[in-house]
Amino acid sequence: MRVRFISERVKAIPEELLQYSIETSVLTPNNEYVVFALCTMCGEPWYLLCDDYYRADSIDSFPRYYPAMLFDVVDATHSKYWVEYQRIDEYVDTKPEVTNYSFPEFAQDPYFYGELLEACDENCSKVFNRYKLLMETEAWNDYPTATLGQKLKIAALPDEGLHEIHTHCTANREEVEASSRCACFYCQEVFRATEVKDYIVEPSMDYRETALCPRCGVDTILGDAAGIPFYKELIEKLHRHYFG
Ligand SMILES: [Zn+2]
Repeated sequence: MRVRFISERVKAIPEELLQYSIETSVLTPNNEYVVFALCTMCGEPWYLLCDDYYRADSIDSFPRYYPAMLFDVVDATHSKYWVEYQRIDEYVDTKPEVTNYSFPEFAQDPYFYGELLEACDENCSKVFNRYKLLMETEAWNDYPTATLGQKLKIAALPDEGLHEIHTHCTANREEVEASSRCACFYCQEVFRATEVKDYIVEPSMDYRETALCPRCGVDTILGDAAGIPFYKELIEKLHRHYFG
């Protein structure tokens, strides 16, 4: 799951939540963050994130909770490392039972976050950082899972549909820069759009620029701003069609 920080919403944080330390100065407006846990507290959904200064090698670094209202959801896919668990919302007078999501160690131990926060258990920090890496790789580099219906649609996609998609890998600098993730149908990798650094000029296309893949150097990158879903089956089909 990935979310985008919308800084204008900081001033709209309800008064009853302000008593909890919500440290927004360590987030960058419009940056995307991977959500490591989704919890309901004070009757509100909260995301557990690592801010811009988080360092996995520092015992003083810890993930922080932020009210979900401060973010737009970019990718709502729940992590495959999450489990669903029930917890009592202690911050509400009626103490309702709520459904939360996180990795199993976090779900099973109500003191896990407290131990991370106080850096009193080195093992908690090791466990968290292991999941952090797995979930970041999943959020940025894994293909989403296609449903059977989507797989059938991809299988039935005619050549013209592939050609239409192919037009997005040329003169695509603006599209890549407007994207969060890119996929390359030559090396078939998915990666953050910010990894794309190299472009070639297309004199025959008004000198517009074409992105080169940061992994293989080929000009076969699609940005998600093009609205093309990065299903493995689709990227493989493009690869087979254009590279045999
Ligand atoms: Zn590539």
